[in-house]
Amino acid sequence: FEKWLKPERTVTTTCPFCGVGCQIDVGVSENRIVRVRGNRSPGSPNNGQLCVKGRFGLTFAESPERLKTPLVRTDDGFKPVSWDEAFKIITEALHKHRERSFGMLASARCTNEENYLAQKFTRLVMKSNNIDHCARLCHAPTVAGLRKAFGSGAMTNSIAELAYSGCIFVIGSNTTEQHPVIALKIKEAKRRGGKIIVADPRKIELTAIADVWLRHNPGTDVALILGMCKVIVDEGLIDKSFIEERCEGFEDFASSLEKLSLEEVETLTGVDIDDLKSAARMYATRRPSSIVYAMGITQHANGTENVLALANLSMLTGNIGKPSAGINPLRGQNNVQGSCDMGALPDLLPGYKSIKDPEVRRLFEKAWGCRLPEEPGLTVTEMFHAIDDGRIRAMYIIGENPVLSDPDAGQVVESLKKLEFLVVQDIFLSETARLAHVVLPAASALEKEGTFTNTERKVLRVRKALEPPGDALPDWEIICKIARRMGYGEQFSYKDPEEVMKEIASLTKIYGGISYDRLEKQPLQWPCPEPDHPGTPYLHGDGFMRGKGKFHVLQFRPSPERPDREYPYILTTGRILFHYHTGTMTRKVPDLNYLRPEEWVEMNLLDAQELGVTDGSWVEVSSRRGRVRAKAKVTERSPRGVVFMTFHFSETPTNNLTGALLDPVARIPELKVCPVKIQPIREV
Ligand code: SF4
Repeated sequence: FEKWLKPERTVTTTCPFCGVGCQIDVGVSENRIVRVRGNRSPGSPNNGQLCVKGRFGLTFAESPERLKTPLVRTDDGFKPVSWDEAFKIITEALHKHRERSFGMLASARCTNEENYLAQKFTRLVMKSNNIDHCARLCHAPTVAGLRKAFGSGAMTNSIAELAYSGCIFVIGSNTTEQHPVIALKIKEAKRRGGKIIVADPRKIELTAIADVWLRHNPGTDVALILGMCKVIVDEGLIDKSFIEERCEGFEDFASSLEKLSLEEVETLTGVDIDDLKSAARMYATRRPSSIVYAMGITQHANGTENVLALANLSMLTGNIGKPSAGINPLRGQNNVQGSCDMGALPDLLPGYKSIKDPEVRRLFEKAWGCRLPEEPGLTVTEMFHAIDDGRIRAMYIIGENPVLSDPDAGQVVESLKKLEFLVVQDIFLSETARLAHVVLPAASALEKEGTFTNTERKVLRVRKALEPPGDALPDWEIICKIARRMGYGEQFSYKDPEEVMKEIASLTKIYGGISYDRLEKQPLQWPCPEPDHPGTPYLHGDGFMRGKGKFHVLQFRPSPERPDREYPYILTTGRILFHYHTGTMTRKVPDLNYLRPEEWVEMNLLDAQELGVTDGSWVEVSSRRGRVRAKAKVTERSPRGVVFMTFHFSETPTNNLTGALLDPVARIPELKVCPVKIQPIREV
């Protein structure tokens, strides 16, 4: 009994759930987790605090449902095979699709080293740039928009700095549910006298501490933010010297605002002009002001414009490039920042270097001993279309579950079924893995070494606490073994992830000074270009990475699919505190399942009354693409005409409803404005 109270050993590692990257002390006895505590070492993003997932959710690793051996699909279902046999099938199949018809989905759940190897494998071995990952569905507009405005698509400040902001503008982020430990910093700012502005159509928990709550209509963020910009310009609240010294394009932007009327903004957004003015004044005058946003901003067919609008707002008031003043996109999954940094993207090599740039290509070609494909590859959503028209015929999916996470999920299933060859590498037999020809058992984050980069650009060590089950192997080892079998022994012969990080540091300037030796002492925030560089807590202090910050002239564009008589409600999707992504991990944790066992359709009381729906009764939700059934949750959280659902529950595949209407720049689909109809049902 004592060993359960006093662990045999304690391993400090990084929480494998959200992008906060909390440091955890995992107590282990006899290869079982017996205790989890928050770690308080210097540089830890959480200073000892944890949310329910980090504290109680790690037992997914001990689930009896873990994959323990490679599987091959046969007419009688999956058959366990040896690694050798699985590799033989994979290498034979992949050889046929080099240079042309191959696509890779890397994973924001894997380490930096593994994502680096996944893109190296795709570009070097498969000779293709068809690599992407779930950032396409969360923060691709952040990467595109903030790079256009500032030259870098990352969170500008550190989590700890939020507590010292004079004003925090939270828009499109249900922070208490999705980044709970960051929400504690927002609450701390409030306790220190800071002002909080929340813009959200739903009555999220943070509205309780908001000084102003802007309950705008879904999909009207550009109008709302431009309205705030107009108030700031008209009332002379701009930071003139900052704009003159550090920015360009202000004159054009300011004159574009002249044509905008606040009455028009009020009509579009549903926000009272006085509230809009209060928010604008608060943000402009209570400096240092921070913006916090997440997928409520990015998951739109105009996601990049939303991000550019926020960049304009911050530059107008000089709230960028200073401690506690900046723009903070909160990244969703544990390592979505790192997988972008590592170049698991179709157009960018590690360190956000364009694949089109011949000099950049030459650097990587010299290091890897190869010729790189020059044309950018396909994004996630484009890859599924390319399967349909035969351009993609083989895929390698690592730790992603597009069958539940991607829009128009019914169509995703149909596309995946058409593939000549699909290999899926995961820790569980996910809904996507069930469609694979070969399934490979991967080690979880608790069973391997490496690094994650959290939402504040902090590179954090991932350490092995448990032995993986059965024959499961770390993703980096599996990728290297396949590459070696395909004839690339020299380029994929790493002893351990530390060697991979050395290569990353040698080729990626922002990681140039990062090493495992340094990370043993404390985490480091990129850019960290030299071995003696202390890391960078906030960006753009001495100048924007692109030179001058650029204002962009924007116009409000309504969502491409609007409610009508047939589909009169707006479905907006999101996440909740107790579950993570498609539930592959958290649904295996009895404690978390107990807290939230099923999907709900959150709807406003008046809508429910009109439809004859009561709390807990079953409803069918349908869109132009599909239908699902779930229990109604009658609540004041949703405004009239808006329903909310998650994508955590495989029994209710919400993304059967959503569509693949894309942002023209970042190619992210619209996931926040999906017209649906709702019908009460008597029997299920
Ligand atoms: Fe893990 Fe995120 Fe919770 Fe921290 S806030 S414990 S990183 S899920």
